[in-house]
Amino acid sequence: YFIMKKLTLKFGGTSVGSIEKIKKVANIVKKRKDEGNAVIVVVSAMSGVTNELKKKSDLISKSFDSKELDVLLSSGEQISSSLLSGAIIDLGIKARSWLGWQIPIFTDNNHTASKIVNIKTDEILKFISSGGVAVIAGFQGISENGRVTTLGRGGSDLSAVAIAKFFETDSCEIYTDVEGILTTDPSINKSAKKIDKISYEEMLEMASLGARVMQPNAVQASMINDIPVHVRSTFSKNPGTK
Ligand code: ADP
Ligand code: ASP
Ligand code: MG
Repeated sequence: YFIMKKLTLKFGGTSVGSIEKIKKVANIVKKRKDEGNAVIVVVSAMSGVTNELKKKSDLISKSFDSKELDVLLSSGEQISSSLLSGAIIDLGIKARSWLGWQIPIFTDNNHTASKIVNIKTDEILKFISSGGVAVIAGFQGISENGRVTTLGRGGSDLSAVAIAKFFETDSCEIYTDVEGILTTDPSINKSAKKIDKISYEEMLEMASLGARVMQPNAVQASMINDIPVHVRSTFSKNPGTK
C-alpha cells in the first residue's frame, strides 16, 4: 500500500527573486504534491528585499530599536509567502500562507538572532493531510511576550530545519541558486566542484567561514537533531548535495 511522505521544501530568496521565479517554484511544488507527497514549503523574502528594509532602518538610526527592526525585516517573507501561495492556488492546488505568529513558531526574545524553542503543529498537519500545501514564512517567529522575532540573516534555513524537526517530515530540502554544496563559492571560483555528500562537521565549518549557502545555526540544528538535509537547485534537475 501507499504511504504518503511529508516533505519540507525551503526556497531561498534567489529562488523567489522575481514573479517568473515564483511561478517556477509553484510548479516545482505542484510536481512534488502530484507525486503524492504532503508538502510544507518554507520561503525567504525575494532576494534583496531584506537588505533594502535594513537600509531604511539605518537611515533612521544605526541603533534602530531591535524589536521594531524584527517587525520590519520579517515583512519581506509576508510578501513572498502570499505571492507563492497565490501562485500555487492558481495552478489548481489548495494552499495557504502562514506567518510565524499565526502557527505559532515560538522563539526566545533575543531579537534579530532568536532561537526557535517550539512550533505548534496541529493546524498545519490537519491542512496538509487534507491535501493543502502549507507555505510558511521563514526567518520569523514570536516571543513569549508576543513580539515578532527574527532568526538572524539567512535564518530561513534554520526555519526549514526546525520545521522538519517539529513536523517530523521525511525530508528537509534547501532549494537554492547553485547545484548544491561546492568545494568553494562558485561566484568566486569558477572551477568549484559539486560535493555529493558532506558531513555535518565539515558543513558547519564551511558555513562558519562564511559560505552563505546554509546558515551556521541551521547546520548546527540539523546536526544536533540528526536531520538529514538536501541542498539542491531550483533551476536544474541535478541531484544536489546530501
Ligand atoms: P538563498 O537565497 O537560496 O538562501 P544564498 O545566497 O543565501 O541563497 O546562498 C547561496 C549562495 O551561496 C550561492 O549563490 C553561492 O554564491 C554561495 N556560496 C558560498 N559558498 C558556497 C559553497 N561552498 N557552495 C555553494 N554555494 C556557496
Ligand atoms: N530574508 C532573510 C535574510 O535575508 C532570511 C533568509 O533569506 O534566509 O536574511
Ligand atoms: Mg540563504
